[in-house]
Amino acid sequence: MAKYTLNTSIGELPRINEKYLKKFHKLGIINIRDLLYYFPHRYEDFSKIIPIKELEKDKIATIQGKIISIKNTRTFKKRMVITEAIIEDKSGTIKAVWFNQPFLTNNLRQGKIVSLSGKMAIGPKGPYLSSPSYELISTYKTPTHTARLVPIYPETTGISSRFIRYYVKLTLPIAKELKESIPQNILKEESLPSIQEAIKNIHFPQKIQDAEKAKKRFAFEELLLLQLFVLKQKRKIKNKKATRIPFDKELIKEFVEKLPFKLTNDQRKAAWEIFKDIDNNKPMNRLLQGDVGSGKTVVAAMASLQTTKTKNQTAFMAPTEILAQQHFKEVKKLLKGFGVKIALLTSDDSKINNKKTTKKELIEKIKNNKIDILIGTHALIQKEVEFKNLGLAIIDEQHRFGVGQRASLKNKNTTPHLLSMTATPIPRTLALTIYGDLDISFIKEMPKGRQKIKTRIVPPEQRSQAYKFIEQEIKKGRQAFVICPRIEASKKQEPISKDKKQLQIDTRKLLWQEVKAVEEEYEKLNNEIFPDLKIEMIHGKLKSKEKEKIMKDFKNKKINMLVSTSVIEVGIDIPNATVMMIEGADRFGLAQLHQFRGRVGRGENQSYCFLFSTTGQTTTRLRAIQKCEDGFELAEKDMQIRGPGQFYGIKQSGIPDLAMDSLKDLSFVKSVKKQAESLLSKDAELKTHKNLKEELKKFKEKIHLE
Ligand code: ADP
Ligand code: MG
Repeated sequence: MAKYTLNTSIGELPRINEKYLKKFHKLGIINIRDLLYYFPHRYEDFSKIIPIKELEKDKIATIQGKIISIKNTRTFKKRMVITEAIIEDKSGTIKAVWFNQPFLTNNLRQGKIVSLSGKMAIGPKGPYLSSPSYELISTYKTPTHTARLVPIYPETTGISSRFIRYYVKLTLPIAKELKESIPQNILKEESLPSIQEAIKNIHFPQKIQDAEKAKKRFAFEELLLLQLFVLKQKRKIKNKKATRIPFDKELIKEFVEKLPFKLTNDQRKAAWEIFKDIDNNKPMNRLLQGDVGSGKTVVAAMASLQTTKTKNQTAFMAPTEILAQQHFKEVKKLLKGFGVKIALLTSDDSKINNKKTTKKELIEKIKNNKIDILIGTHALIQKEVEFKNLGLAIIDEQHRFGVGQRASLKNKNTTPHLLSMTATPIPRTLALTIYGDLDISFIKEMPKGRQKIKTRIVPPEQRSQAYKFIEQEIKKGRQAFVICPRIEASKKQEPISKDKKQLQIDTRKLLWQEVKAVEEEYEKLNNEIFPDLKIEMIHGKLKSKEKEKIMKDFKNKKINMLVSTSVIEVGIDIPNATVMMIEGADRFGLAQLHQFRGRVGRGENQSYCFLFSTTGQTTTRLRAIQKCEDGFELAEKDMQIRGPGQFYGIKQSGIPDLAMDSLKDLSFVKSVKKQAESLLSKDAELKTHKNLKEELKKFKEKIHLE
């Protein structure tokens, strides 16, 4: 054993041939360290040792006795080898049976004392132990596979839990080389086991509580690293220099008075938080969260106006052409009469206020600070676009927070203030972790006069009724959205492929399947159900020009019904649409269903959301969305039901599993955050915590929160 270290390759362990090595690699296990960090996902409790005669049908137990006889036989079709043994202890005898493991007789020989764990079954020839876990008592000091809590690992073909367990036990002594990265005082305060104890107990616990404590320790460690990472990121941004944009009370007062409506309290509060942030020479890093229709754009417009008055520029970026156009129109309307030069730049369009210009001319003007607010798509971060005095970057509906986009906006000297906006409700634990580098403002209150959207789960037998209802709505002059079921990647997933190319291929395949689903739904609705209506479809394979035309036609009421995938533009404003019909609603998360629903109910008419499920069954989740209209509450529920993985980008973020799992637990997340903050406040560079610092460095390489 002495020759092994944490970095020893798995290939150097006894009896690991090429074939096994490959399989271990597939599980992400390259060296002994990886193996020790390959945690069981559950335990089988074989700790109860009883006399043979006390065995009961279907109850798990361990018996120990002498092998009276053992032999292999072939079934008459010769397809299968059966190993049969008779075991005896003082109380009686029992048969044990295994299938297709002829090698068992090499070790389990007549006369040896064996320990067997499993369930007793009763067959035509009487009771027997069916494929029990086994080991010879003479070979161990402490049991590994029987007579204890036995770890069960995520397996792959050819690598069983038993196999993994054997090697974990073999290499467990190497765990003493692991360095403790959690500071001693924190271990004490949080009553966490040391690294060595935790490794031992997560694999081979005496009591299930020991395993739980070990698990908690690793979750704590991972979450601590995540917190440190995020908090350090935050500090880094705060050390950069931004242009101060002083608050101009008169200007804002004028703006508010000119508005055709009264701002909600939440809009005021959010605006105030932003004004305070930008009135500082450290860059703002703020996320504005509010349901679709809650009025984020007005808040963004106020911040831009304020920026303009200090001769600084604003870049306002939207994920799609249509949304950029919509923002452009809205911001122009809101800032009318303030003498602000507002421009639009997308790949197909460039305008200054109401005038078309060439792209070249526009880019020249941006460079010379002749444009105050530039609204557009990703075109804003092309290399030709260069700002003279970019004071504020506003990024709408990017899955994560626009931090990367800010970095790609070209500006002289200073870092622009960043305002990210999203309609995805963020559960509290995520706000405290993944989003921890951002300050968050919430708009929870909807503008006055918004109607509640009636949500109904439609059972299969009421489908035609629902169609009739929709037809009536459309006859009244309203419009409808139809969302097609999401196509999911196949469930049978091997450990996630880190291979980018493979990932791309998979994504492309999914995209095609989604297109097919939309086409089928469209055919059905257009040809069979609503032959008289004007129906169009929109999906990921259309060119943005085509999509834009369809969306425009829909907005201009030339289309009655729009069939689409789940990826249609989130913030799009169609006040005349009153029906949202979601097929395969059971396949979407609550947060997403809530967002779909938010696309209707933006005008004065009563709106409806119909949920159809693929199975025809009503799930807890569907009931939750029917009952609840609060996006935050739904996000919290979704977090509890489906975990954090479904929130945008988090599944791909590289956040380790235990940390991911613990993101469901608010008080845990809070206590980790507190410890992380206290660590950094005493020692921002972690100079006195070398091991932790080193782990953090490794952690950074694995994580990508963009
Ligand atoms: P979001 O971007 O949050 O989805 P928008 O900013 O597009 O929402 O606002 C949706 C609509 O509500 C817009 O037509 C906007 O003019 C209007 N609106 C915004 N704030 C208010 C308010 N306080 N009262 C009434 N209408 C409002
Ligand atoms: Mg919006």
